[in-house]
Amino acid sequence: MTNKLNDEQKRIALEGATESPFSSPLNYEKRNGIYYCAACKNELFSSDTKYDSGSGWPSFYKPAKDNVIGTSTDHDIGYERTEVHCNNCGAHLGHVFDDGPKPTGLRYCINGAVLDFKPD
Ligand SMILES: [Zn+2]
Repeated sequence: MTNKLNDEQKRIALEGATESPFSSPLNYEKRNGIYYCAACKNELFSSDTKYDSGSGWPSFYKPAKDNVIGTSTDHDIGYERTEVHCNNCGAHLGHVFDDGPKPTGLRYCINGAVLDFKPD
């Protein structure tokens, strides 16, 4: 990792914690731009694929590019979920669910604290 993370970011990125719902200002971010990994500045998501899922976490239906997001399976809360992380530095980002909108049907449910948004 190349960037300094604050305590909350470390809990999420390194320990797999989840921020409180509706705590991230990025829930309400509507501008065009790119969402980067807060830890390593890897380009993760474009505003083009961001949508309001109502979940309380920034939600996207597709990563910015193939292979920027890695996945693994976790059972942290008693049932199987697909964890997603930055494929460059390994920082935990959130989870992906299969109840997203077309065309992918995926919902990348991401902790805003570990995203760095740069408007166009
Ligand atoms: Zn990263």
